[in-house]
Amino acid sequence: MILDGKKIAADIRAELREQIRSLVAKGQRAPKLAVVIVGHNPASETYVANKMKACAEVGIESERIAFEADITEQELLAAVQRLNNDPTIDGFIVQLPLPEHISETTIMSAIDRRKDVDGLTPENVGRTVQGLPSLVSATPKGIRELLARYAIQTEGKHVVVIGRSNIVGKPIAMLLMQRPYLSLPGMSAASLGDATVTICHSKTQDLKSICLTADIIIVAAGCPKLLTAEMVKEGAVIIDVGINRIDDSSVPRGYRLVGDVDFENVAPKAAYITPVPGGVGPMTIVSLLQNTLQAYNEHSR
Ligand code: NAD
Repeated sequence: MILDGKKIAADIRAELREQIRSLVAKGQRAPKLAVVIVGHNPASETYVANKMKACAEVGIESERIAFEADITEQELLAAVQRLNNDPTIDGFIVQLPLPEHISETTIMSAIDRRKDVDGLTPENVGRTVQGLPSLVSATPKGIRELLARYAIQTEGKHVVVIGRSNIVGKPIAMLLMQRPYLSLPGMSAASLGDATVTICHSKTQDLKSICLTADIIIVAAGCPKLLTAEMVKEGAVIIDVGINRIDDSSVPRGYRLVGDVDFENVAPKAAYITPVPGGVGPMTIVSLLQNTLQAYNEHSR
């Protein structure tokens, strides 16, 4: 069965639209997100445009703040400080990747955790690990929500996560191994957690044997067809986070997007599987909207 992230994200957007409509009807201002983009990376431009379009759909105001790629780290830090101090902005994100001369760690660490709607500041990540109220990183939050909306239980299940990035691999592993009573605000997934989690990465030996013991496999590696049918046991749940551009001269734009899973051959063995596109991607964007509303609610208290 396909885990239809596009549909679930549309359902959640409708719920958010309703919540925001009733806030505004009560005379409150609409929530507002700022999106900082540096340089002209085409993929980043597309992500930012999609995020702003999603904001408009639910009634969140958004502002695009663009800088040229030669901006200095100091200048970008000053922009972050301005947004931290701006009472009209509930949350903001700095679209990654940043140019090489700017430290992503330095920039992320400067964001006020209460406005960190991407959930990437060390403070938010640490609070998530400890089960304290926090803004949870958008992609892991979206994956957890997708599992919850399809009532896929994780308790006692063996989850294999492929990839150890700070934005996907590490936080999703943490969320799914949490005790449910530590579940986080803004999530409907209160019963999710209690899984036994194995994290694999580029130096893992015999990935196939590990994957064959998995009830749920979450792949976030950025390698097309990394997960093949021989690595998957019958009835496993497959979450494909990867977004890879591969050349395809049969389509006008000259490329198409694929995930990290050999979808065609893995899907027949899987109980549930996410497509790419239309799986985790739309859930990531909707998590950003949920986080913006969460930041607004905490901010306007
Ligand atoms: P990353 O690109 O920072 O790192 C990749 C990770 O995969 C590393 O931890 C590496 O050890 C591991 N890896 C690479 N090759 C491997 C192999 N052969 N075997 C086992 N492990 C291997 O990770 P990221 O930023 O989490 O991105 C991963 C993928 O997910 C990319 O394709 C990215 O575009 C995509 N992504 C999608 C979304 C979304 O919303 N759908 C969000 C974030 C990232």
